[in-house]
Parts: sequence; C-alpha cells; structure tokens
Amino acid sequence: METLIPTINRLQEVFLTVGAEVVQLPQIVVVGSQSSGKSSVLESLVGRDFLPRGSGIVTRRPLVLQLVNVAPLQERLKNENGVKAEEWGTFLHCKNQIFTDFQEIRHEIEAETERNSGDNKVPVGDQPEDIEAQVQEMILSFISNPNCLILAVSPANSDLATSDALKLAREVDTDGRRTLLVISKLDLMDAGTDALEVLLGRVIPVRLGIIGVVNRSQHDINTQKSLEDSMRDEQAYLQRHYPSLASRSGSRYLAKTLSRLLMHHIRDCLPELKTRVTMLSAQYQARLNGYGQPVEDHSATLLQIVTKFASDYCNTIEGTARYIQTSELCGGARICYIFHETFGRTLQSIDPLGGLTELDILTAIRNATGPRPALFVPEVSFELLVKRQIKRLEEPSMRCVELVHEELQRIIQHCSSYSTQELLRFPKLHDSIVEVVTGLLRKRLPITNEMVHHLVSIELAYINTKHPDFTDAAQVSASVNSQQVCALQQAEALDGGKRWKNEKVVEERVPAAAFGSPSKGQSVNLLDTAVPASRKLSAKEQRDCEIIQRLIKCYFLIVRKSIQDSVPKTVMHFLVNFVKEHLQSELVGQLYKQTLLQELLVESEDTAQQRTEVAQMLEALQKANNIICEIRETHLW
Ligand code: GDP
Ligand code: MG
Repeated sequence: METLIPTINRLQEVFLTVGAEVVQLPQIVVVGSQSSGKSSVLESLVGRDFLPRGSGIVTRRPLVLQLVNVAPLQERLKNENGVKAEEWGTFLHCKNQIFTDFQEIRHEIEAETERNSGDNKVPVGDQPEDIEAQVQEMILSFISNPNCLILAVSPANSDLATSDALKLAREVDTDGRRTLLVISKLDLMDAGTDALEVLLGRVIPVRLGIIGVVNRSQHDINTQKSLEDSMRDEQAYLQRHYPSLASRSGSRYLAKTLSRLLMHHIRDCLPELKTRVTMLSAQYQARLNGYGQPVEDHSATLLQIVTKFASDYCNTIEGTARYIQTSELCGGARICYIFHETFGRTLQSIDPLGGLTELDILTAIRNATGPRPALFVPEVSFELLVKRQIKRLEEPSMRCVELVHEELQRIIQHCSSYSTQELLRFPKLHDSIVEVVTGLLRKRLPITNEMVHHLVSIELAYINTKHPDFTDAAQVSASVNSQQVCALQQAEALDGGKRWKNEKVVEERVPAAAFGSPSKGQSVNLLDTAVPASRKLSAKEQRDCEIIQRLIKCYFLIVRKSIQDSVPKTVMHFLVNFVKEHLQSELVGQLYKQTLLQELLVESEDTAQQRTEVAQMLEALQKANNIICEIRETHLW
C-alpha cells in the first residue's frame, strides 16, 4: 500500500505537463482562512521546514512543488532519478533542478513568488479588486475534484461556526465524505476555555474526524525551534490539556490519519481512474488519427489529395459519392432537376403565341403582301412571326447554363468541406484547388453559352416548313385557306357586300379566351399588349389570323421540343462532362509542381498545434496507464 502515494505522485507528474483537468487524481488540499496555520500544518505533515512564513499574506501564488521521500528499500526509484539523497523536491517551473536542501526549496518559493508578484512588501496594497473572488475560484477548482481530500484548517481561537475552511469544504463536499477538520492554535485559546467540545465533534460533527494540533508560534519560528522539539512540546501540551484525546490529536496523529485516509482513498479511486484513463486513451487516439499523419512524402500526399478531390467531385455529379446529403439536392441530382424541372417547365410555360396580337399578325400579313391584296396568306409573314417567338427560347436556355454552372461551383465547396476531409488540414492547397476548379468552370462557361446561343441561331437560320411534324399542319392550313377563299368569294357575291355573319370585333381588353384558342391555357394574352382603338376584322382577316396562329403554334412547339432536348445535351457536353474529364489533369497540371509542393502542403496552424497537444496527452495517458497497471499487478489486487 505504501507504493500508492509515490504512484499518485508519478501520475501527478505525468499529467501536470499536459494539463491535469482530464483526470481527477486523488490529492490532499489544505484550505483555511489567512494565518489559520495551513503552512504550519503542511510543514509538520512533511516533517520539514520548507515554506516561507511570517505574519500577513505570505504564501501568495500557486506553484507546483513535488516532494519525494524514498525509503531506503526503494532504491529503484532513487536511482531512476539519479539522486543520492533520500528526500528531495522538484518544481514544475524548473523541472530539471533537484533540491535536496529544504532551505533552498524555501528560497526558491520566495524567489519565484517575487519573480511573479514582484518584491511587494505590502502584499495587500496593489492586489486586484476581485482578488478574493479569484482566490475563492482557484480553491474551488482544486477542491471540487471529487477525488480530493480536503484538509480544513480552523484556528481554535475563532468561532468554528463561521469557519471559512468548513464553509468552502461544505460547498463541494456536501455529505462530508472527504473533509477532515484540523483545529490549530489550541495553545492560543483564552484562559479558562478549551476546545474539547469542538474536538469531540459536538459543535460541528465531521465524518472523517477532527484533529487538534499545536504548531510553532511565530516566536518559535523566529527562534528557529526545530520541528522535532515542536512536536515533542505539542505532545506534552496535549497530555496536559486534553489527556483523554492526546492519543488521537497532534501533528503526528494527523500525519498518520491522513496517510491512511489518502491510501484508502487512492485505492477506492484507482479502478475508476483506470477506466477513465483507458477511455480517454481511446478517445485521444481517435482524435490523433483524425488529424492524419504529418506530411512526409509531399508529392505523394498532394497527388493523393488531388486525386481524391477529383474523384469526389465526379462522384458527386454521378451520384456515387460516399457522403450523400439528405437535406437538399446536390450534384448530379440537382443538375437533373435544373434540366427537367427548372428549365423544362420554364419552356413549357412559354405561350407559343405570347406577345403576338391579332393586329401584329394582320400587320405582318399586310406588309408581306405589298401593294397588291393577296388571295392566300403569305408565308413570309409566318416566318417573320415564328422567328420572333423562337427567339424567346434563348433567355431560359442561357439561364439553364448559368444554373448548372452555379451548381458545379457549389460541388467544389461541398467536396472540399465534406468529402475530402484531408483538405481541411491544408488551407493553402484547399484554396488552390478551389481556384483551379473555379478557373476551369469559368473558362468553359462562355464556350457553353456560345454553343447554346448557336442552338437558337440554328433554329432561326432555317424555318423548315418541310419538317415532318409540320407538313401536316401546313397542308391542313393551306386547304382550309383555299376553301375559305372560295366560300368567302361566294358569300360576298350573294350578300352584296353585307357583313359576314360570323365576323368578330377586335376590341381593347378582349379576354384571351375569346379567341377560342385550340388548347386551353395557351391562349393569347392580349392584356400585355396595348391594342389600338377597336377595329372590326373582316371575315377574311379573321381567317388569315387563325391560320397564321395555328402555323406559328405548331412550328414553335417543334422548335421548343428540340431546344428542350438539345440544351441539356450541350451543357453536359461542353460544361459538365468536360470538367469531369479534365478536372484531374487540370489540377495536377497546375498544382503538382516541385516548387509549390512545400508551400501548398503547409498544415494549418490549428491542426499542427492540436496534433501536438493531442499526441502529448495520449503519451501522458499511456504512461499513466502503465503506472496504474504496475500497481495492479504487483501490489494491490
Ligand atoms: P497560513 O497563513 O494559514 O499558512 O498560516 P501559517 O502557517 O503561516 O501561520 C500563521 C501564523 O500563525 C504563523 O506565525 C504561525 O507561527 C502561527 N501559528 C500557526 N499555527 C499555530 C499554533 O498552533 N500555535 C501558535 N501559537 N501559533 C501558530
Ligand atoms: Mg501560508
């Protein structure tokens, strides 16, 4: 069992370098109000004079001092440290220096306090206003560790009910499982009073016990009274004043009790400590793996990352990516949506006769016939008008290219932040890859735009009235046309110039449906177009208009179908597939240069630092694990 305390000391040492917050080691913390006798109690526990002492606030800063005491049998530990002495101390702030002289330890504490807080002869004078809160906070941070034993020091000559030490201890140790109360300054009580009631736990009970002590007075310190003498006198004092309690009081008894408590406490804590260390080791190992290995072969690493990015990019388009988003469409699926939903629907919603008034049509017919009134509807007017409608397909087509381009741009972000995790380590490489792919997309955009523009121009270049889907419509119109001409001529002859019965009147704000458009929902919308003062259409004009409208509609639908089909193909060929095929070679070509390698593969400072920290912590945890396993095997169980 005696090995437990050195074990905990070794664990303490292991974790001090990496921040001891992760594991809560068993330890003893002495708390108490100013000059209650904390330093005195610590010294008598250690059995050595090593703390600076005086009236006022003397111990003014936290520092870590490890005191080592090796029994002669424990040669191993002694040799490990290369020290011949049986007792020595080391400080965290100067780890390599070993102090075997306890006077020097005190000097080092004084010197370090001065280095840190300045040679301040009036320590209270220039302290920050919230010093009390700060100190309170610091104490609480130590004693809130559930594995910490609290040694509450309260002087016998002040009221226990208002003891700062007990108050603090109660805050974190509500059921008093780990608080031991020390009543100091038994010798300083008023004449005629004693602490018997207090020591017997009748004033305030304390589960782990209440131990009274008599430390050296300031006078004793000034006259350099030795600890041995002090302890002897203490024992004599206790025999005199508290004979019934003498065997369970005093510094020696306190040391024994504390040592027993600590060892039991450590033994109780160890299984949980071991579990925690094992669990943390696994966690930190996983975190370390997450950071990847430091770069050794720069060329290989760059190639690997670039290749991974390129394949992630292509996979996202193909829909074969490992990381599949569920919150929104992305990659290939979104491109599909753009083609068929966004673009397809926009085209479908274009009214073949939109923006064409009957008056526009009539004017076009008239202009096409020239000075001589025509018997048949002139074809020229149809061509002129249908081209005007076809041009309306260009804008949504261009928009389609733009949307796909935007999506391809979005995939870069997607791949560089979700899929290719390695990229987060190398911000420079990340930015360069984004830049190269963006550049490639930007280069392809005008080419694709031009091709799509051409698609519409091609349709405008030649109105193919012999198109197999159009010839029927053209013939029907032509026959209707000629029949109507005959009928009209006959009727006009019979009627003697009277108005045609079925004549219609073009009026301002005529509802579109009034034109009896063959398919509902695709009616001419005259509301958009200002129609000049109402004028009556003759029967012939009426028929002519209808014929032209029917032809325009029929031909427009043919072209729309073709554009709806060819624009996505063009976008795929000139933009999407091109980028897919050339991405890898473009990236390698631009980034895989010896002169760039080092620069591109500089890790982000965060990653490098975090990896170091995590590696250190892991090392500490593994050391701790070994230390715990050692006792497990040899001593305890
Ligand atoms: P700390 O501020 O809690 O560390 O208190 P110290 O241990 O420095 O003690 C403060 C002063 O009280 C010093 O002058 C000690 O010599 C004195 N002192 C501490 N304990 C006792 C005691 O039991 N009896 C007497 N007479 N003086 C004590
Ligand atoms: Mg002190």
